[in-house]
Amino acid sequence: MTWLRKAKEGLKPQKRRRELPDGLWTKCEECGEILYHKELERNLWTCSKCSYHFRISARTYIQILTDEGTFVERFSEIISTDPLKFRDAKRYTDRLRKAREETGLSEAVICGEARIEGFPCVLAIMDFSFLGGSLASAAGERIARSILLAIETRHPLILLSQSGGARMFEGILSLMQMAKTNALLARLSDAGVPYISVLTHPTTGGVMASFASVGDVILAEPKALIGFAGPRVIKQTINQELPEGFQRSEFLLLKGMIDRIVHRTEMRKTIAWLLRFFATAGTLPQKPRRRAGESLARFRAASLPIATALPPAPPGVPGPNGSEHVSPSISPSPPPAREVPIEE
Ligand SMILES: [Zn+2]
Repeated sequence: MTWLRKAKEGLKPQKRRRELPDGLWTKCEECGEILYHKELERNLWTCSKCSYHFRISARTYIQILTDEGTFVERFSEIISTDPLKFRDAKRYTDRLRKAREETGLSEAVICGEARIEGFPCVLAIMDFSFLGGSLASAAGERIARSILLAIETRHPLILLSQSGGARMFEGILSLMQMAKTNALLARLSDAGVPYISVLTHPTTGGVMASFASVGDVILAEPKALIGFAGPRVIKQTINQELPEGFQRSEFLLLKGMIDRIVHRTEMRKTIAWLLRFFATAGTLPQKPRRRAGESLARFRAASLPIATALPPAPPGVPGPNGSEHVSPSISPSPPPAREVPIEE
């Protein structure tokens, strides 16, 4: 008769029904869809219903993007100190210690060398969970050394940003990283080594105002917040309504600020495609590159006769279909006789 006694008690509504058992289901922050954890993982932490991209750690990005077992971390010995002895509600050193304990990271960026579908590259991946992925002297120095490593090895640089901007606890020393990294990226460009910048949610402040926005190719995850100051601050400053979708990837693509929006499940394939493209392009004859400070006259003189001044192409290099390979810069159509005037 136990079942009768149970029936008398009536059905009690479950308390806190929306709370989900840990590790089995996750609720989409955008559309509210309940997603099975395993499926979410299979979709690389993106919602199968609305494509919302959950924030993931730098280590997870490394797993997603690189060939298994090829990532070798570099520059992990560079860590932040507290040069300004900064203290607000808490001491900066305490914040650093807590961030290290909670994330298992030593800084807001992980750098290293890896292979993506067989192509070697230098990788720098920021992590928002470490003090908002903020850029400070140690993070900046790791990125700077990664750029130098890319110049030295001539392997393309891939920098994935996920940051709230410069870390204010290091004041001007954080801001200096913007200039330092960009100066080195100019050197990377002079060396003809490609730089792919990947923007994820959010990429804002000093990071967007420096290295994140100057990639040879700029990719972004869907619906990522990308900008310098946040939309609320801009709205208050200019006292105007902002257009719909302002500072999101889709808006920036329309404005020509980024090259392509790439779903996370397509990111590895897209980067590999670009690496293959750059590897092929690197073997072709290059136009002379102008270095910072170099006179434009010299560059002009050198750039015009490129098609005729090159040594003859090696005879009979077979193309992919057995046809003779013709280098694009030695195309049958002659270069224009007159240059388009460029401002000095
Ligand atoms: Zn969703």
